[in-house]
Amino acid sequence: MVFQDKFHLRIPGPTPVPPRVQQAMAKPMIGHRSNIASKLIQDCTNQLKPIFGTSLQPVILAGSGTSALEAAVVNTLSEGDEAIVVSTGAFGDRFAKIIQKYGFNLHVLDIPWGKACEPDNLSVFIQKYPQAKAVFLTYCETSTGVLNPIPELAQTVHQHSDALVVVDGVSCIGAVPCQMDEWNIDIMVTGSQKALMLPPGLAIVAASERAWKTIESNDQPSFYLDLDSYRKKLEQQATTPFTPAVSLLYGLKEALSMIEEEGYEQVFARHERLRKLTRAGIRALGLTLMVENRHASPTVTSIVTSHEKWDVESFRKNMQANGFIVAGGQQHLKGEIFRIGHMGYCDDWDIVAVLAAIEFTLHQMGVPVELGAATKAAQEVMLDV
Ligand SMILES: *Cc1c(COP(=O)(O)O)cnc(C)c1O
Repeated sequence: MVFQDKFHLRIPGPTPVPPRVQQAMAKPMIGHRSNIASKLIQDCTNQLKPIFGTSLQPVILAGSGTSALEAAVVNTLSEGDEAIVVSTGAFGDRFAKIIQKYGFNLHVLDIPWGKACEPDNLSVFIQKYPQAKAVFLTYCETSTGVLNPIPELAQTVHQHSDALVVVDGVSCIGAVPCQMDEWNIDIMVTGSQKALMLPPGLAIVAASERAWKTIESNDQPSFYLDLDSYRKKLEQQATTPFTPAVSLLYGLKEALSMIEEEGYEQVFARHERLRKLTRAGIRALGLTLMVENRHASPTVTSIVTSHEKWDVESFRKNMQANGFIVAGGQQHLKGEIFRIGHMGYCDDWDIVAVLAAIEFTLHQMGVPVELGAATKAAQEVMLDV
């Protein structure tokens, strides 16, 4: 690497921050209870509504994505309550761990990593636990690159039970369609450092009227994560109960404006294209994609390397030396896969670049790959779509 600050961050979060957003975050600090701060908070919450597909204002917390997951748990469940977690990987497991830690009664539907949860599968499981107060789902399972069929899964839950549908959308909201109201999603959460093109530090929770009723009356005590207090402060004074992450909010407003300017449908179409390009390139190198086409996420792609003769962790080190950061596997997939993040501030040429780096790095390592095979395949898709 010639320039130490010039590298390609291709992990599924944190993701690259656009210069426009970076500049917006450099604004001088303001009083957090000022009218300017209130206007900023109001603008952000209003601009977030179409991203979630809701008519209600989402609330914004200062915290990483997991604070939104924990908020969703402690505001909907209380002692003695039963909950269902559908786990398709590391982030489904995280919901389960949070619920377990609080001592609520947990039922986990474990799906093999790399697969999506099918509605039929959930339908059988949910009927076993009619008392469940909430069902926790993951939209994009970042550890594998699966995009779960959330509208169908939500419908399945509602067919059989009154349980709330709570969804972790951290690694895809802003990059894929989300119609909370239409799909009857009760809670959808996201974080700032994935498809929203911001640094880490913001957690966003959108909830339905039905969910807000549960949240208001839930017995489980919580202080910083008490969502009801966020909603009341927002409605009454357009502010937050605690100091908001002002600079990140400036960035959020700018990032949401960028998404508006490009157009929501265009943003979704771009991510669809990035998924296709990545997969075409990987296939052209004879590498193995972890997830089948119909469940592959537009935001992250996993490549299985466990059967290859080369070591994936050495490969990642060599990629880094060439200026490209790709992610490894989580938990038992460490050393078995690598992952390419392609969400947010990412275009076709970024994918061509990472594919070029992959074929080049493998070639350097003595792996028999044809230079140009992956980039050619991706460029052919670019001409096609
Ligand atoms: C990144 C991510 C989170 C949040 O992780 P933090 O490190 O707390 O920001 C939660 N769920 C999914 C699916 C994620 O990809």
